[in-house]
Parts: sequence; C-alpha cells; structure tokens
Amino acid sequence: MPSVANTDIGWRMEHTYARLPETLFSSALPVPVRDPQVSILNDRLARVLGINLSRTTPETLASLFAGNQLPGDFQPIAQAYAGHQFGGFTMLGDGRAILLGEHRTPAGNLLDIQLKGAGRTRFSRGGDGRAALGPMLREYLISEAMFALEIPTTQSLAVITTGEPVYRESVRKGAILVRVAASHIRVGTFQYLAATRDYTSLKALADYAIERHYPEIGDTPNKYQDFLWAVIDRQAALIAKWQAVGFIHGVMNTDNMAISGETIDYGPCAFMNAYDPDTVFSSIDHAGRYAYRNQPAIAMWNLARFAETLLPLLDSDSNRAIAIATETISESPALFDRYWLDGMRRKLGLQTPDSGDLELVRSLLDWMQQAGADYTNVWRDLSAGTMPAGHYYNQPDFQAWYARWQERLNCEQKPHSSIYAGMRIVNPAFIPRNHRVEEALSAAEDSGDLSPLHRLLEVLKRPYDATGGQSYREPPASECNYRTFCGT
Ligand code: AMP
Ligand code: MG
Ligand code: MG
Repeated sequence: MPSVANTDIGWRMEHTYARLPETLFSSALPVPVRDPQVSILNDRLARVLGINLSRTTPETLASLFAGNQLPGDFQPIAQAYAGHQFGGFTMLGDGRAILLGEHRTPAGNLLDIQLKGAGRTRFSRGGDGRAALGPMLREYLISEAMFALEIPTTQSLAVITTGEPVYRESVRKGAILVRVAASHIRVGTFQYLAATRDYTSLKALADYAIERHYPEIGDTPNKYQDFLWAVIDRQAALIAKWQAVGFIHGVMNTDNMAISGETIDYGPCAFMNAYDPDTVFSSIDHAGRYAYRNQPAIAMWNLARFAETLLPLLDSDSNRAIAIATETISESPALFDRYWLDGMRRKLGLQTPDSGDLELVRSLLDWMQQAGADYTNVWRDLSAGTMPAGHYYNQPDFQAWYARWQERLNCEQKPHSSIYAGMRIVNPAFIPRNHRVEEALSAAEDSGDLSPLHRLLEVLKRPYDATGGQSYREPPASECNYRTFCGT
C-alpha cells in the first residue's frame, strides 16, 4: 500500500478576514492544476513563518502550494475590492488570487497566505484566473530584492509550475505564486464599500485594519482621523524609499496600494538606470502617469481617494468630515518631503540637518540627469571614500559639487571613514538591473534553466556587499526601448 504523504507542514491558519461582513469576499476554491511542480522555494521566508518544507515530499509541497490539496480546516476566499485604474474607477476583486487564510508566525504576527494564479473566481470577469511563469518569477525576484533593500513589501514563498499552458500574446507556461503579505487590504477595498454606501461594513473593515496594522491607535473620538494619518505616514515613508532606490512601481492604481504600507503587485515595475525623473517602463502607461517623478503625487492622489472613503467615519457632520479629511491630506506632501530628504541625507552621509542640504541633493540630481549618470552607481561610488574618477565624473560640474559636499562633510562630527562606512549600508551596490532580470526570466521560461535566477538572487540578497560581482553592477549598454508588461 502506498504511504500517504504528510501534508502538515506547520500552517497555523486563522480566518479572521472571513469573519468580516460577507460583502467583502466570496468563497473560492483553487481550481486544481494538471501537474504541479516546484519551480522555486523561499527557505528564508519559510523559517520566518515557522513552517517546515522538508516535512513532506516535493510532490506534496507542489500540490499544496498549487491548491490541489487543502488541509480540511481551510476556508479559502477571494476578496472584493474596487479601484481607480489609470484614473478610472472600476469594481474589481481577486480575479485570480485566492486567500487561504492568515498564518500565525512563531513571532506572533498574522500574515496572509495567498495563491496567485489559482483559477477563476467570482471576480474574474473575462480573465482566465491564471498566471504565467515569467511574471510570477519576476514577482518572486523583485520582492526578494525589495526585502533585502529593507523596503516594506509582500513576500513570495514559492512559485509552482502548473503543467498547463496559459494563453497570452503567446502560449506560456502556467504558474502559481504563494504570496505572503501583512494583509491584502487595499485603498480599493475601502473604495468598494464606499461605492456601495455600505457604511456598517466600512466601519467593520476600518476597525479590523486598525487592529491588524495600527494597534497603537487608541479607541478615541479621533480614531479614524488617526487611522487616515497613520496610513498616509506609512505610504509617505514607503514612497520615499522607492524614490531613494530608483524603484518605479509602474501601476500605482488604488487597488495596488496596501493599507499595511507594503509594496504590493509587482506587475510592470522596474528600477531606473540612468537618472531621469521622466522614466517610465510600463508598456501600457502611454501618458507617463506612473513615471518616477510622479510617484509621490500619485500616492497623495490615491490617499485622497482613501480619505474620501473614510468621510462617513470621520464625523457625522459631512462638512466637518470634509474639513478633517482635507486638512489631513493637505499635510501629506510635506510629510513625504521630510521622509525623502531624511533618506537623501543618509545617502549623502549627513546626520545633522543643515538648511543647505536640499539644494545639495538637488544639484547632485540635476547633474546626474544632464550627465545621464547611473543613479545607483553614483551613490555607491560616492560611498567609496575617494573621489570617483572616469567617464562622467571628470565633468567640472561634478567636481565642483564634490568639493561642496566634502566641505559639508567636514561639518559632521564624525570621521570621514565612518561616514563612508555608513553610506555603504544605505547605498546599494546591487539593484535588480532590468537586463539581468530579463536574462534570468528568459532562461527560466524558455529553457527551464533556473541557474541565472538563483545567481541573481544570491547577489540581490546582499545588496550592500560589493563583493557580490562587479558585472551585476553594470547598467546595460543601452535601454532606450526597455518596456515592461503588466504581470500576466
Ligand atoms: P492588476 O492590474 O494586476 O492590479 O489586476 C487588476 C485586476 O485584474 C485584479 O482584480 C486582478 O484580479 C484581475 N486580473 C488580472 N489578471 C487576471 C486573470 N488572468 N484572470 C482574472 N483576473 C485577472
Ligand atoms: Mg493588482
Ligand atoms: Mg498585477
């Protein structure tokens, strides 16, 4: 008799979201796939979760992570939400993602476990509910890189190939991503309830989000204003971090903005090479709405939509509610600017603020832009402790700027050697260069060769350790036509 494989890998699943009003979700079972196989597993994340991937066979693991087998006490659901997509409002929902539940980690944190690409749900509209291998490996890779760069992000536990084709512009291999997130509550989740004027559920959702993500907020009359401000604060901090590393999300629709403050939905995202604030990579973003320079303003626009959803909770008098929301939102650009300048100061090795710092940063960025200098490498070269030499660094504008910066460093109460050491732990040597990402994904998708992906992951796990390999620091020779496509 064949032995029955152990399916208990140590999930400690709770179903707190499924206790919210039913309008927020719909029961949804993963649609079994033909031949699930492990493509990649995240041992680091498995340790954080306290689950044991070696307790079962690879076959059973693939079957579990594809949703072919579900432990009996699971209550899988698809979440309802809405969103402004490129400015236009639509009712949406998990069209191809299924939430298995929330796992309690040994540290006591509650994390969503979601299968992305697990089949059609009530919210699939015309879609097939599936995902292709390349985009799922891309999400795995970029989310790992973001994690290593200490940028709040959803994480990826595994990618499983399904053994089934998915039909896009071409026929591609199907895959499922196991996504781990603080939660999947979005600005769009609130918009969904506001659009249906379901204020009882709206209050329940807000209370749930506060308890789960902002437990420090007290049960005071200002509770929902505090919540609004806390969400704004986390988003401002997040976007400042994106700007600092040159990350371009590519599709900052309100349904892709998480209330937890994590980066979510790695579709057409990419990292900037040469510094140009107008950089946009997404093939569908013709107007440049989500260009690098626009990210802070778009985030504020999304947060204004969030504030609108909270109006019924902010005050029973609608004029007062509008006044509270307007006042709170109007303070958000200054908050972002503060986070951004603090981050830029750290990148320049400055600890004590000075009134000339903003101008110092601006003139460096202006020079980078007119010189077409590589954004990541300039910061890292400045951290070396000697004046960078070669190509664009010989320009008089740079040399003049460098002299000003050196004078400014002299005002810091620290030896220069320790300033530079500090800079080398905030200015990464390695980011996921677009041409490296493409190279790794094509090898995986076209010939099933995951070794370039694993090599790239090794480098990106230690972004501040320059011994990782010089060739991974180099920008591509030319990237004029680099375009990313929505995660399909
Ligand atoms: P995104 O552009 O990735 O933020 O997705 C927008 C919406 O489209 C979400 O509601 C997704 O669930 C849905 N969606 C994306 N791809 C598919 C698919 N292949 N099948 C069904 N729904 C999808
Ligand atoms: Mg999305
Ligand atoms: Mg997406």
